[in-house]
Amino acid sequence: GFKCGIVGLPNVGKSTLFNALTQTAAAQAANYPFCTIEPNVGDVAVPDPRLDALSAIAGSQQIIPTRLTFVDIAGLVRGASKGEGLGNQFLGNIRECDAIAHVVRCFEDGDVTHVDGKVDPLADIETIETELMLADLESLEKRIPGLEKRARGGDKEAKEQIELVTRALALLRDGKPARLLELKPEEEFAFRQLGLLTSKPVLYVCNVDEASAENGNDHSAKVFARAQEEGARAVVVSAAIESEIAVLPEEEQKDYLEAIGLTEPGLNRVIRTGYDLLGLITYFTVGPKEARAWTITVGAKAPKAAGVIHSDFEKGFIRAETIAYNDYVTLKGEAGARDAGKLRLEGKEYVVADGDVLHFRFNN
Ligand code: GDP
Repeated sequence: GFKCGIVGLPNVGKSTLFNALTQTAAAQAANYPFCTIEPNVGDVAVPDPRLDALSAIAGSQQIIPTRLTFVDIAGLVRGASKGEGLGNQFLGNIRECDAIAHVVRCFEDGDVTHVDGKVDPLADIETIETELMLADLESLEKRIPGLEKRARGGDKEAKEQIELVTRALALLRDGKPARLLELKPEEEFAFRQLGLLTSKPVLYVCNVDEASAENGNDHSAKVFARAQEEGARAVVVSAAIESEIAVLPEEEQKDYLEAIGLTEPGLNRVIRTGYDLLGLITYFTVGPKEARAWTITVGAKAPKAAGVIHSDFEKGFIRAETIAYNDYVTLKGEAGARDAGKLRLEGKEYVVADGDVLHFRFNN
């Protein structure tokens, strides 16, 4: 599955957010640095109101959302790239994630210690980003001697890699993250193989005070401006509120949200934006037993999509009976869509669209 790593300085609210996301007390929140020692991993349901609409039409007994994995990664301090604090472990855990949810403290609270003494989200972001860039610099510099040796032996691939690594190094030395490197399409695979921490897509999660949960505050506005400049994403959330909402029964959640001016938990935005950031889309299978959401990457063709359900579906793929989400809803289900000529038979080259309702035909 796809993994989103939750990172940030100590005491910014990572564990509180992770707990709310997973609704467990597994990751203990406490008011001191280094409380989070092991990475905590949680599978989170991706909220999607389309599932409710589909199941209502088909009379499905069960709704099964698709899931996204969040990893709460141990706190980072200045010097982590040199092995300080839980630095090395932290960096290793990020390497295994597909995207980064960077929690930034945007709340003032004299009772909660800030590691650098004051709330300054842009400075906090710089601290984390600097450590990640230093780690990337080091890992690239280590690669050069081996690559040069291979290049001297006439290895053409190694020569190309040196060129790529040199460009990435120049960018990082200039204080810029590797994700800003301009790549030719044929370089993308080799670039991904480098596994650079600053090449991963970033979502800034602005953890604001309760009163700012709806519209954010001055701190979060600065983070949004930065995100826009660097092509990253940002969301506002109050981890403290989310952790309270998460444990309420569903009925009470609605009233609570209304009272503070929200239409849904802020966490839904975090999850959906993370999903989006990873380039993920959803298709559905719908029947009387269940309405179910499945995750694929943008651009996946029908056999690959089928393979998410079962490898046999991909191997023996014949065709996909396909109904666009809007057609399924407007025409009130499969029979209506079929009568209106909106049920398409798609083959191996079909690129699945977000929201497609699919039924696979395959050979065993
Ligand atoms: P972590 O070190 O980043 O995982 O931070 P924690 O989630 O353990 O939170 C550190 C402290 O900040 C705890 O005492 C939390 O209760 C507190 N905290 C977290 N989020 C908020 C928030 O939105 N508002 C306030 N006032 N306190 C918060």
